[in-house]
Amino acid sequence: MSSALADRLADVDARIAASARAAGRDPGSITRIVVTKFHPASLVTDLHRLGVRDVGENRQQELTAKADELSGLEGLRWHFIGQAQTNKARAIRAAASVVHSVDRPKLADALEAAGGKPLDVLVQVNLTDDAGRGGVGPADAEALAAHIAGCAGLQLRGVMAVAPLDEEPARAFERLRTAADAVRRVAPEAAWISAGMTGDFPEAIAMGATHLRIGSAITGPRPVHG
Ligand SMILES: *Cc1c(COP(=O)(O)O)cnc(C)c1O
Repeated sequence: MSSALADRLADVDARIAASARAAGRDPGSITRIVVTKFHPASLVTDLHRLGVRDVGENRQQELTAKADELSGLEGLRWHFIGQAQTNKARAIRAAASVVHSVDRPKLADALEAAGGKPLDVLVQVNLTDDAGRGGVGPADAEALAAHIAGCAGLQLRGVMAVAPLDEEPARAFERLRTAADAVRRVAPEAAWISAGMTGDFPEAIAMGATHLRIGSAITGPRPVHG
């Protein structure tokens, strides 16, 4: 196993702990998800050996293939963080422990209809002005949360977002925080905030993120894909 991977993981974890302390937060209250998209399953095996248990993928086929191949890895949790078509809901629910990217009632309904063990889900909030990006507008998060709360097989845990490229992350994350508060009005227990990537996780921690989705800072650059 490359010691560079272990070094990068330790370095990121140290930066997470420092950012948490700077914000007066307990580093232990933050879950660091390693995003392994486009990397081979062997990288996930290496991460698991280093103690990583939460990994993220953004494409259903890749999620399904890796989850099948690595089903023997004790305690591994797969987080689905990508845009999902409703016809992939069954496969996603079969493989993932958490779906961060529920952005419309139809997708919630498809995940619900797929059946299986209870699934943790988050409302994805779009922080850009581009309606074509994933997520509901911040003003619509509460209504989607109310819909999800009516799905018996889904456990609403909170909200998720990606900061826009063309704005200060801290400013964008304020809107996510507001949407998170709105969601908690309909689901008080839905306290997770999934935000923060390689480029902006300190700002996400300062805003109150509970789940970070960090890829390249830990894995190294992603392989070019077709
Ligand atoms: C790829 C991806 C990440 C991780 O991105 P990095 O910049 O490599 O840390 C986080 N969230 C989502 C939704 C992603 O698609």
